[in-house]
Amino acid sequence: MKYKIDLHIHTNVNPHAYSTLEENIAAAQKKEMKVIAITNHGPALPDSPHWWSLANMCIIPKYMEELRILKGVEVNIVGENGEIDINQRVYEVMDIIIGGFHTVPEYGYTLDIKRNTRALINLIKTQKVDVLVHLGNPMFPIEYEDVVKCAKEHNVAIELNNGSLINSRKGSKINCEKIAELVKKYGGWLTLSSDSHFSREIGIFTEIEKIKDKFNFPDELLLNSSEEVLNKFLAIRKKLSTKDVTRTTI
Ligand SMILES: [Zn+2]
Ligand SMILES: [Zn+2]
Repeated sequence: MKYKIDLHIHTNVNPHAYSTLEENIAAAQKKEMKVIAITNHGPALPDSPHWWSLANMCIIPKYMEELRILKGVEVNIVGENGEIDINQRVYEVMDIIIGGFHTVPEYGYTLDIKRNTRALINLIKTQKVDVLVHLGNPMFPIEYEDVVKCAKEHNVAIELNNGSLINSRKGSKINCEKIAELVKKYGGWLTLSSDSHFSREIGIFTEIEKIKDKFNFPDELLLNSSEEVLNKFLAIRKKLSTKDVTRTTI
């Protein structure tokens, strides 16, 4: 495994993922990963657990032997004004918050490119989310240039999702190439992720890495490249993050 940092991993508290937290940790240790983020879905998805499951992540140790474990959540966009589906209690527990579009009733499923772009730009500006996930999904078209530029200005990272190229979100590849090219052009932060739903997938970026390499993306802006880069990013995010999510829905 070339990269030892994976910031998008699900456990079976969302039943469409199949490995327990302990199984994921054991698999990551076996692969000699350095940092993993556990990022289960926010409560707006129909098979998500109660928000207590996210808030109680405070009991998970920061390290298990050499492996660093970040507490995270993959929030759902639930409104055009940047609303997300976690409350203050969950927000305060998290080391990293990733988020994007899923088909949730509150937002709906829309091919309206202007509405989707507006929702993402507003979300970026709230500074509540550290990483925007699977933006290549053709089910939620967006103006890539506007979103990438805004993310760069606000120090929000953009994810390239390996799962989108192998398991789900068909048609993402060409969009991921566009995104990678634009993030490079504007000098934004990029992260590669497995979006693992089964422990064996942790740290596997095979397909997405090819896209990253095609555009010769610099290591100093790639969150997976070292803990030093990741820590620098997280420190910047901590300063920018808003302290208040009270306007956000559960
Ligand atoms: Zn997702
Ligand atoms: Zn995910």
